[in-house]
Amino acid sequence: MLLDDAARRQALGSAANRFGTPCFVYFADQVTERIRRLRETFGPRFQIAYAVKSNPNPSLLARLRPQVESLDVSSLGEVRLALRAGWSPQALGFTGPGKTQEELESAVSLRVGLIVVESTDEAELLNRIAGGQGRRQAVLVRVAPRTLPRGFGLNMSGRPSAFGIDEEESAEAVRRIAALAALDLVGFHAHSGSQCLDVAALVENYAICAELFRSLAEALRKPPRRLVFGSGIGIPYHEGDTGVDLGRLADALAPVRDLLQSDPWLAAARPVLETGRYLVGEAGAYVTRVVRRKESRGTPICICDGGMNHHLAAAGHLGTVVQRNFPIAHLDDTGDPGAKEESVQLVGPLCTTLDTIGRGVRLRGVRPGSLIAVACSGAYGPTASPLHFLSHRPPREILVENVDGEARFEDASWIGSPVWGPAREVWS
Ligand SMILES: *Cc1c(COP(=O)(O)O)cnc(C)c1O
Repeated sequence: MLLDDAARRQALGSAANRFGTPCFVYFADQVTERIRRLRETFGPRFQIAYAVKSNPNPSLLARLRPQVESLDVSSLGEVRLALRAGWSPQALGFTGPGKTQEELESAVSLRVGLIVVESTDEAELLNRIAGGQGRRQAVLVRVAPRTLPRGFGLNMSGRPSAFGIDEEESAEAVRRIAALAALDLVGFHAHSGSQCLDVAALVENYAICAELFRSLAEALRKPPRRLVFGSGIGIPYHEGDTGVDLGRLADALAPVRDLLQSDPWLAAARPVLETGRYLVGEAGAYVTRVVRRKESRGTPICICDGGMNHHLAAAGHLGTVVQRNFPIAHLDDTGDPGAKEESVQLVGPLCTTLDTIGRGVRLRGVRPGSLIAVACSGAYGPTASPLHFLSHRPPREILVENVDGEARFEDASWIGSPVWGPAREVWS
């Protein structure tokens, strides 16, 4: 774990002292290592698509360019960020249930490689747009499987859903979409859920998707060229969580790999693993400084310079129902055995009781000026938080490389910069 590693802890302190708090610190080597492990687990046939919504920091997107094959974007803003970070539009796949006409028109004219259509209405609109521009647009059809394995985590399958075409209607829908002249139906997409830590449930889900893709290919009488699997792979956020054992996952995946390899309807397709938090979540930490300490009715309360305005997830309001603490450390804890451990309440600066970073956190010697680090913060941090609530300064973002040697720090601060500047700023 990041906070158990002396070199990384030291780098967090250096970054905070040099660039100021609050800040997010991302360790580039950990992202690279995650990519390597995923490739090892899934094998050379799988490509990796990074889900930009998990962390759209432009420096990170630029660093990922030589490392993963494609990006999953879900708004025109994310398209712009990807292009600005030097990505080719061809390498983008545009998902999302509510793409507007403006977004579809822009995506086609910008030559976005794949548009993932999530309904027949959307496909028909896109067909008119592409036809009107005299182009043929490559598309994937997103399908929503009827079943999701038990214990999957954040679950978006089986129930009424905004995402994708229900499995029950999918065979008929793909036939209609395949007949649209200005669309080139390249394959299928499924993302049934996120934050799954259970190997058996993950593999069962890939098998369900592969089987559904196979039946759709057969219904179309046409083998797909591309199959996108939402990875669903989660990370251990809380005490008691155990991360996914990739060695076991690799073994358990064998039947799915065999199906993809040997089934005549699937053998020509390129499988793609679409993933966000697994790559960046554990590679990042949020660092905030204690501004003030008070005792209230017997409890020490430490008020920090940042909180849920930057890191809503740590406050327990994104993705979790039960409030449990993220891993938290006091970076200036000298390990002095004389300092006694105590249970403190860590809160942010906002004028709401919701703004809690950690409850009952066991720390030693926390006082005004102390640096507090929250691990597992590389995904769904600042861009998933109410940044403008109370109008505090946005957090800085620092990229660290070579942490085990001569560490290099890059100020990758971006939060608060406009995504929606003049168009020529993006594609001049
Ligand atoms: C959010 C999302 C992902 C990434 O989910 P993670 O849990 O961050 O891996 C992938 N695909 C789609 C379609 C998504 O909406």
